[in-house]
Amino acid sequence: MGRGGHDTLFRRWHAKQRMRMERSTRTQLALARTLYVPALVARYIIAQRDKYLPQSTPLRPAQRAAMSGFFSAQVLEAARVIVLEGTRLRNPPFHRTLKRLGFRGLRDMSQISAITFDHVVVSHQQFTDALLFHELVHLEQYRQLGIRRFSELYVHGFLVGGGYEGIPLEVSAYELGGRFQANPKEQFSVAEEVTRWLKEGKY
Ligand SMILES: [Zn+2]
Repeated sequence: MGRGGHDTLFRRWHAKQRMRMERSTRTQLALARTLYVPALVARYIIAQRDKYLPQSTPLRPAQRAAMSGFFSAQVLEAARVIVLEGTRLRNPPFHRTLKRLGFRGLRDMSQISAITFDHVVVSHQQFTDALLFHELVHLEQYRQLGIRRFSELYVHGFLVGGGYEGIPLEVSAYELGGRFQANPKEQFSVAEEVTRWLKEGKY
């Protein structure tokens, strides 16, 4: 075999090897995203909940009254809220890891209006009923799913849905929130809606 032929063979072999490596890197990245990232997120949620819990307060009577036709007494009882003043949430330390794993369009935590960590709602602004409603839907989702499963579905939804707007846990919260805002007097059970979405595999 002449030199040229050998080179071609070698190049082909090399290209094949590279493809194989790229595929295994992709597999590893996919595994990292689906196994490792939800664990990081879950740990972060627990740490943030425990950090803000001592300074947070139960819902005020007016807030409970506005939400009572939609949420169970259990949720209204468990909810804790805090409005940050003079300080803002910071991005979690694993944001850089996520970027390395190919996550794009991550939200800057200091710019969001509010976020729910298990049963603790942390907000950058005073609560309107609409904002509180949205966050309490997440609280109900946490209650039914648990923190670990919530994290898995959130991360999966982000990757599959192509960003925050595509996360089914968010879509559902916005949808139910929209229903509430359209008619705050027409009661419905958020718990039942979350159960239905779960059963239908929509999360
Ligand atoms: Zn949300």
